[in-house]
Amino acid sequence: MRFDILTIFPNFFSGPPDHGVLDHGILDHGILGHGVLGRAIATGAVQVATHDLRDFTHDRHRTVDDRPFGGGEGMVLKAQPIFECVESLGVAARPERDLTRQSVVLLSAQGRRFTQAVAARLAGMEQVVLICGRYEGVDERVSEMLADEELSIGDYVLSGGELAAAVVLDATARLLPGVLGHADSARYESFGEADSGGNEGVDGMTADGVPRSTHGAGGLLDYPHYTRPAEFRGVAIPEVLAGGDHAAIRLWRRRMALKKTWRNRPDLLAGAVLSDEDREFLATLEEI
Ligand code: SAM
Repeated sequence: MRFDILTIFPNFFSGPPDHGVLDHGILDHGILGHGVLGRAIATGAVQVATHDLRDFTHDRHRTVDDRPFGGGEGMVLKAQPIFECVESLGVAARPERDLTRQSVVLLSAQGRRFTQAVAARLAGMEQVVLICGRYEGVDERVSEMLADEELSIGDYVLSGGELAAAVVLDATARLLPGVLGHADSARYESFGEADSGGNEGVDGMTADGVPRSTHGAGGLLDYPHYTRPAEFRGVAIPEVLAGGDHAAIRLWRRRMALKKTWRNRPDLLAGAVLSDEDREFLATLEEI
């Protein structure tokens, strides 16, 4: 899968030009050189190219912005360098573009919310072009005539689209086959699907209504994780996790996922796959 990122700050992604080689042999390409994303690029599962919008200007000052028509604060990114940059990438013009294979995305606070489901859809594509705005934003004709979708990473205003593009890139790349060590890691974490494997039961539940997986988030937030030592600064891990009773561990994890979702993101409960037992447990929380 290939990502093309259009920005006036390409070094945000690729690090300074005189980057070195890190211990594990991956080039220190800023955010592109680390962890899961760094490995995905090193193994070729993901290709990322950054494009400096100033390379697509035609004046001596390499001007990418101009004053807004109608007056008002700040400057606006011009449409022309963005159009010419996208056209240089071999992306089909919009009427002919196959939107199952390619998407041109404008990062924008006015966009649709970027979610795990959007990341999963993008992960099925061959090429995603990410356009990073700056200043007061981008000439609206980019949204009207060039971009397939506007995406926002949340209800707040960033000073530029680069951080948002990095979020989209990271969340999407880790869903690609072979990028995470364990194929199920990305399936059953926060916002993920319920584990409906096996023949018994439906909707991620066993026939007796217990969630099958210790991981199946099923639209809930992930359950809490602990690692060694078993006691840290006087606080011990929950006893059940050290007991080796897998059914009990599974039930505890399910309940903690429910509790965390109830406490931090109650809006998610409406769309989650819940058993009768889950509902009973949630009712006990309401009573507290
Ligand atoms: N005037 C714009 C508004 O009120 O919606 C804000 C422009 S913002 C200062 C500059 C750029 O940052 C935007 O063009 C966009 O690319 C990016 N940006 C800001 N907030 C964002 C968000 N929540 N999600 C994605 N991109 C964002």
